[in-house]
Formats: sequence, C-alpha cells, structure tokens
Amino acid sequence: MSDCIFCKIVNGELPCSKVYENEHVLAFLDLSQVTKGHTLVIPKIHKENIFEITPEIARNFYEAVPAIANAIKEEFNPIGLNTLNNNGEFAGQSVFHFHLHLIPRYGKGDGFG
Ligand code: 5GP
Ligand code: ZN
Repeated sequence: MSDCIFCKIVNGELPCSKVYENEHVLAFLDLSQVTKGHTLVIPKIHKENIFEITPEIARNFYEAVPAIANAIKEEFNPIGLNTLNNNGEFAGQSVFHFHLHLIPRYGKGDGFG
C-alpha cells in the first residue's frame, strides 16, 4: 500500500533499525522505545490488522516470533518480555499495517505496565 509507513519500511523507502528479517516478516526497533529493545514485527504483505490476516499469513508470521524474541533476549538481556497487538483505532492501533509489539522487561519502573 503506497501511503503505509510500514510498507515503505519493507520497500526500503524509509529507514529502520532492523532486528530480524526473513522471506515473510521484518522486525525493527520501534521509533518510540517504551523500553530498551522495543521491537515491532510485521508481515511483509500489507494487511490492516488481525481481522484481515489469513491463517497462512499468521502461520508464517508467528513462526518467526520466537527467534525474534530470542534475538532481543541475546542483545538486551531482559528479564521478561510482553507481546502486544492493537487492532482498530479504539484498541490503540495507530499504524494500520498489522504488527506485534515485543516489549522487553527489566523490572519495576522500566517504563511499561
Ligand atoms: P500501534 O499504536 O499501532 O500499536 O503501534 C504503532 C507503533 O509504530 C508505535 O509504537 C510507534 O512508535 C511506531 N512507529 C510509528 N511510526 C514509525 C516509524 O516510522 N518507524 C518506526 N520504527 N516505528 C514507528
Ligand atoms: Zn502496509
């Protein structure tokens, strides 16, 4: 989708700090880090939210998530990690290209929760 910022990141039209990439997904640091290492995982194909992704897209997407979580664990050494997925404006979605937040946790006062 031409006016989608995440599609522009996939196409290389906008820069990102890449955490992980394979054929189906791209993971990169969130511009606004809730905690250190806050990462977004997106499917390379444009789908607005969970109501639009097919089971095949979901399979390819979630298959990559443990490797990405482990890459974050290696790099940032958190003591835990939250996953978060907002769908629809009312639910807090602000970029309408499906994405999963991976939010590393470091203990009380780490900025999340
Ligand atoms: P949402 O609120 O839709 O669940 O999350 C969208 C996230 O995208 C926000 O956490 C926001 O900081 C992040 N974001 C928005 N624009 C950009 C961008 O251009 N680059 C990166 N890396 N993150 C972005
Ligand atoms: Zn998109």
